[in-house]
Amino acid sequence: MSQHLSNGYLAQLATEFGTPLYVYHAEKIKEQYAKLTTAFRNSNTVFFYACKALTNINILKYICSIGANVDCSSINEVKLALHAGFPSSRILYTSNGIAFSEIEEAVELGVIINVDSLSNLEKFGVKYGHSYPVGLRLRPNIMAGGNLKISTGHDKSKFGIPVDQIDRILELVSKYNIRISDLHIHTGSEIKDVEVFVKGIEVLFGLIPHFKHLEFIDLGGGFKVPYKDGDVSTDIDLLAEKVNESFAEHAIPGGKPLQVWFEPGKFLVSECGYLITQVNVMKETASTTFVSVNSGFNHLIRPMFYDSYHHIVNISNPEGAEKKYAVVGNICETDTFAWDRPLNEVREGDFLAFYNAGAYGFEMSSNFNSRYKPAEVLVLDGKAHLIRKRDQFEDLLRNQIEVL
Ligand SMILES: *Cc1c(COP(=O)(O)O)cnc(C)c1O
Repeated sequence: MSQHLSNGYLAQLATEFGTPLYVYHAEKIKEQYAKLTTAFRNSNTVFFYACKALTNINILKYICSIGANVDCSSINEVKLALHAGFPSSRILYTSNGIAFSEIEEAVELGVIINVDSLSNLEKFGVKYGHSYPVGLRLRPNIMAGGNLKISTGHDKSKFGIPVDQIDRILELVSKYNIRISDLHIHTGSEIKDVEVFVKGIEVLFGLIPHFKHLEFIDLGGGFKVPYKDGDVSTDIDLLAEKVNESFAEHAIPGGKPLQVWFEPGKFLVSECGYLITQVNVMKETASTTFVSVNSGFNHLIRPMFYDSYHHIVNISNPEGAEKKYAVVGNICETDTFAWDRPLNEVREGDFLAFYNAGAYGFEMSSNFNSRYKPAEVLVLDGKAHLIRKRDQFEDLLRNQIEVL
């Protein structure tokens, strides 16, 4: 793990902006992006930031400024990306069970589109024929990813058109003369083994000869990042090597080189983020010492939802003697962040920082228990900017219509 904001600096931000607080470190995003572009410098590869991981508009603007493209999961994300300054040619909308009306909107906005069902492919053909290029989100029937909840390419997954339905796809493509510009697969998240991507390429190469207007192969996202010391991450250099090898081994029909796309979410923003909380209460029980912080799964749901591990640091007492604690939240629902976790001695009032909080952190937060969503701060060029105000009481009533 590299380029971390120091404990002292994080504690200073907690004091200045209050807690709970999300902090993002811009230069860390840049460092991650550079790892990708460096590894793939000798190949024709483009990276689309899967922005559902973190959509604060300042993050989108920053990512636009460092040169990455953007991958969206909803038409609103497409609109946010346009608002952030991405030209439509750098915006990809990968659909998943969406209404055809959103695809029509995406066409009007001029962005790149991947469709993920035969039904929408047919509607697309009827309406646009050959006039607007479109990509196919395919389900490769490959098992991959950190756990079942984050696996999306296997043969029971809802995502994509199963590759075994290729005959139906080809019927529609030919009937409406649809211009298929890319083939897309996204097999899951936290993929350690680069062979998964190679397997994906193998599946796609079997299909490529059927599509004569193809320009791009989109291998999705899912690169793993380290969550704790000793954790393996996706070996990006090895991935680049394997992908290049794979492409070198397969002759492309017509000889036209295909550009390779990836859609990293977590890889770009996970490590840039910290959630800083404050200890409300210490509770000693016969078996456990509980640390209750002023947060919960309403702010960071990953531990409860995915059983994910987040490194926690007592930034107020980093030299304190280590003890084991259960770190829990303050909402009325089990919201354990960590069991049996060694931390430097914790006292009421201490600030605890949760690492890897950039991806799927704030983005999956809610107002459960009628608590406020945290504020967000962006550290850029050594300067801290408030980029989202903490909710206020009025926010809880906003959009409610009082009829009684
Ligand atoms: C979520 C998603 C990604 C990003 O996944 P990460 O694990 O965050 O890299 C990429 N592509 C698509 C289509 C997605 O839905």
